[in-house]
Amino acid sequence: MARSSGYVLSIDQGTTSSRAILFDHRGRPVGSEQVEHEQIFPRPGWVEHDASEIWRNVRRVAAAAMASAEIKPSEVMACGITNQRETTVVWDRKTGAPVHHAIVWQDTRTAALCERLGGEAGPDRYRERTGLPLSTYFAGPKLVWLLENVDGLRERAEAGELCFGTIDSWLAWNMTGGAKGGLHITDVTNASRTMLMDLRTLQWDEEICADFGIPMSMLPEIRSSSEVYGTLTAPGSPEGVPLAGILGDQQAATFGQACLAPGQAKNTYGTGNFLLLNTGTEPVFSEHGLLTTVCYQIGGAPACYALEGSIAVTGSLIQWLRDNLRLIRSADESEKIAKTVDDNGGAYIVPAFSGLFAPRWRPDARGVIVGLTRFINRGHLVRAALEASAYQTREVIEAMTADSGVTLTALKVDGGMVVNDLLMQFQADILGVPVIRPVVSETTALGAAYAAGLAVGYWASADDIHRNWAQDKEWTPQMGDEERTRLYAEWNRAVEHSLDLA
Ligand code: ADP
Repeated sequence: MARSSGYVLSIDQGTTSSRAILFDHRGRPVGSEQVEHEQIFPRPGWVEHDASEIWRNVRRVAAAAMASAEIKPSEVMACGITNQRETTVVWDRKTGAPVHHAIVWQDTRTAALCERLGGEAGPDRYRERTGLPLSTYFAGPKLVWLLENVDGLRERAEAGELCFGTIDSWLAWNMTGGAKGGLHITDVTNASRTMLMDLRTLQWDEEICADFGIPMSMLPEIRSSSEVYGTLTAPGSPEGVPLAGILGDQQAATFGQACLAPGQAKNTYGTGNFLLLNTGTEPVFSEHGLLTTVCYQIGGAPACYALEGSIAVTGSLIQWLRDNLRLIRSADESEKIAKTVDDNGGAYIVPAFSGLFAPRWRPDARGVIVGLTRFINRGHLVRAALEASAYQTREVIEAMTADSGVTLTALKVDGGMVVNDLLMQFQADILGVPVIRPVVSETTALGAAYAAGLAVGYWASADDIHRNWAQDKEWTPQMGDEERTRLYAEWNRAVEHSLDLA
């Protein structure tokens, strides 16, 4: 029998901020708190976070969310963690101190290293085992970089003094006691983003670790996404609550959107865009530039897999217009400015700032603005920036259709950009299928709450999750086929111009 009293606490540790949200049994947020952390850019292409700051922020937002909703630890049935994926932390087992700043998923310092690791076989050397191409995106090469570039690190790692983890591991270790017996664990979804895990056995791949020169004693234990791992003990955590769910942020959003059956997909519009299609209990390997990843594993049940299209730059292009070009004062304003013109006027922005991710995987690409004439004004450029998210999404969906044979009938969306009506309408137009936004937009945090709540019986099954999902708004396509085809062809020509520029 599921319990309906009490709440579940979700910790959502994202790229720009940490959030804590308490959810009730209907999956509605009842209290939340959020705080941003520093983005550290030591050199062009390098992006770091201070893991200690992140841990302080997580404690702060958890305590503040509980206080603002006047909820006591005894009313919290479980806690789940969801996190920015791939971001890599190494810390000292005895002191709990990180040995270096965390290297963030967007960081491109491992480009040459990835080429070296691929050797003659090239970027697909480990794809069959890991579902991933060798790319700066993933955690394993970031860990190799630390071992090779931080003085004394390799010796300390080999002596068993150090722990490696993605942000979920770092938080779980600290929340369950840190240097005083904290659990060194990760879940299958986060582990599947390291390039060190065998997708089928769900265990660390000894051969890849040997190739990379990574001592296996550094690695966390791989667990399912939904089970009672241990109890929160850190002050402010809240103490005594079972830690019972861990999911990478995009997998959590897939869960929160109730995409729990094969063929169901969601698209998240945040810093970048991440489209995940649930493919069921067999991994599907992509021929069209998508990643194969673990979607979730509930306790002892077989893991579910997903095909993923990751786009590096979507919402962050809007930030760039705001901060670097000062074309807009706020992300919100992008809609108003784009509405001052009827269309893009022939201008296209291809935001290949860190190369192109899915489906093209072109590290040699760089950003371009094409189609400029004397006619083009600020409105056209802002519009082109918004449209870039929609075109890139269409590329990923076409790859997904080609790989899976599943034809999309509607797209469930979430993330910071989906408040933008103009973008959502254009997305429906350029795809030719309806775009649907749910009532609870915090799908990432909600997904981690579901994983934790399922493990302790707060929610009984996927039926509860389906019942809680509700539609807020739907955009239906209004563009003619001819126009859709013409615009998409122009976009593809613009992308050609971005290649071979790095
Ligand atoms: P993340 O979880 O990756 O940090 P969010 O889901 O919070 O990101 O989304 C933030 C992104 O959404 C930012 O990059 C911002 O530029 C973009 N964004 C926010 N509001 C709007 C808007 N009204 N129109 C377009 N983009 C927006």
